[in-house]
Amino acid sequence: MGHDQNLFKDRLAVLATMHRKEQVIQPILKQELGIDVVVPPDFDTDWLGTFTREVNRPGSQRETARLKAQKALTVTGATLAVASEGSFGPHPECPFLAANLEMVLLLDAENSIEIVGESLTTQTNYAQQEITSLKEALLFANKAGFPEHGLVVFGESECVKGIVETEHLLTVLQQKLQRRIKVRLETDMRALYNPTRMANIAQATHDLIAKVRSCCPRCGLPGFRVVRRRQGLPCEWCLTPTGLLLTDIYGCKGCGFEQEEHFPGGQEFAQPMHCPVCNP
Ligand SMILES: [Zn+2]
Ligand SMILES: [Zn+2]
Repeated sequence: MGHDQNLFKDRLAVLATMHRKEQVIQPILKQELGIDVVVPPDFDTDWLGTFTREVNRPGSQRETARLKAQKALTVTGATLAVASEGSFGPHPECPFLAANLEMVLLLDAENSIEIVGESLTTQTNYAQQEITSLKEALLFANKAGFPEHGLVVFGESECVKGIVETEHLLTVLQQKLQRRIKVRLETDMRALYNPTRMANIAQATHDLIAKVRSCCPRCGLPGFRVVRRRQGLPCEWCLTPTGLLLTDIYGCKGCGFEQEEHFPGGQEFAQPMHCPVCNP
């Protein structure tokens, strides 16, 4: 007897968030998978690390998402949990660009299934800057999409988060600048203060849906996903293997079945510009 994506239909999932991520995750999971998402009241996720660094994250981004989901299961006694975790920093391939990687993890304790949706984007306002004048601050704020996007002011040991009003921002800055305290402005990356990030969480949720719908051809378990990739797409002129992707290998966590998919990029040959012989 195989499984299918209806495994999740009409089940209740707890979402471990205190930053209103349910606003985007809830409707997508309801519409696409028939899952009812609830947020446990007073669920504190800040012990798992915060963006403003009062607490460091205990593990990798995926481990952190898993810990949140496990905690939600323990606290509520539910069997299905959703957790989301984001990270910000230089783009892995273009380090001059800031990037945001969002993960949305679905944990099904009843069927021992863990599926992670991901979305990597350079659409982010992630930035920080030392501020010496109000003029500098307003320029930064403008670039960061303030006041629709929140800001954080750091000065000495104190930090004021979730600033979404110009007057509030100016008051906080003035107090510090007058006392000649070194001030740093940062974008507030918490989802409820950052609509750009919220949009990327929605993208990651859609990726999760796609992965849930990808079922193992042998046993039907949802979450049949790429486990390895092989490079070597041949050059279109001389057929030398290039660094571009040739094959994706999909695997099932349940039964171990694997399947190869050739030419995942849709092209059977690489442009000579990628070739070590034609364009060394
Ligand atoms: Zn070539
Ligand atoms: Zn399988």
